[in-house]
Amino acid sequence: MTSNNQSQTVKLVRDKVFGLPVNRNTLLNNTNGTYRKKIEERQRALIVKISFIKTFLNTGEVIQFLTTACSPINLWGQILSGGLFIFFNRSLLVFTNQRVFHVPTTRKYGYRNCVAQIRYDDIEKIEAKGHCLAITYKNSTQETFLCLARKERKKIKRFIDTIVTRAKTKSKKDRTYLCPQCTHPVTPKTHRCATCGLAFKSARESGRRAILLPGGGYFYTHHPVLGTGAAVLESSLLFVLGGLAFATLNGIAVNPVLLVIAGAVLMSLKILSIFHAKRFTLDLIPQQSP
Ligand SMILES: [Zn+2]
Repeated sequence: MTSNNQSQTVKLVRDKVFGLPVNRNTLLNNTNGTYRKKIEERQRALIVKISFIKTFLNTGEVIQFLTTACSPINLWGQILSGGLFIFFNRSLLVFTNQRVFHVPTTRKYGYRNCVAQIRYDDIEKIEAKGHCLAITYKNSTQETFLCLARKERKKIKRFIDTIVTRAKTKSKKDRTYLCPQCTHPVTPKTHRCATCGLAFKSARESGRRAILLPGGGYFYTHHPVLGTGAAVLESSLLFVLGGLAFATLNGIAVNPVLLVIAGAVLMSLKILSIFHAKRFTLDLIPQQSP
C-alpha cells in the first residue's frame, strides 16, 4: 500500500464513528476547537443510539453533532401532561451539514421507528435561547423544541448561525416525517407511506382504544409505563363504581357523592388518556415495525 493510500485509509477511519460519516471537528471539539474527552464520550453515547440513521443519509451528508431535547408540545399539552412530557416527549436532534434529524425516542433515547427531518432550506429563522430551540419556517409555521441539553447549547448557538439559507428561496415545507422503511418523506396528515405503503398508527384508533380499554390508548402508542399506570387506576375506579352500583341495587344506602366523585375521576382519566394517546400519534409510529 502506498503512503498516499495509507493516509486515505486512516482518514476514512478517522471520519467515521460507528460506521457513520461525521465531522470530527464539530462532533468531538468544543466551540473553541479544542478536543475534550468528555465531549467524545457524550457524543459516542448518543451516536450509538442512531445506527439506523445510515439509511436516511444522503450522499455527502455528514453528521456534525447530536443533542437531546423534548419534541415540540404546546402549552396545553405541557399542562395536561402534568410535566411528564419531559419524559415521554424525549427526542434526539442530529445536526448534519444538510438538515436536522428529529428522532422522537423512548425515555432512554431508544429508537421508536420514527424519524423527521428539518431541512435548512426550509428554515426562515432559528434561535437557541436557554433550553429552547425556536424555529420559524419559510411557510410561517413555528415550533419550539424544549429541554435542550445544556452540554450542547453553546455548540448549537454557534452552529445554527451558519446553517440558515440566506438565499430567499421559497419553501412550503416544515418539519417532515420520513418513512422508517423506505426513508421517503410522508405526506402530512396521512397515515400511510405513499411510496412503500407502510401504515402508521392513527389518532382515531388511539382514541377508540383509550375509551374501550383501561390504558388502551397508551399501550397502542407504545407507552407501557403510562398504560400500566392508567390501567391500574381505571380498573380500580371501575371496581369501586361496580361495588357502589351493586350495593345500591341491593338496597344498601350509598352516599351519592361517592358515586359522583368516582365517576368524575374516571371520566377525567379517560379524557386525559384520549388526549395523550392522540398527541402521541402525531409522531408517525408504524403499525408494525418495518
Ligand atoms: Zn415508505
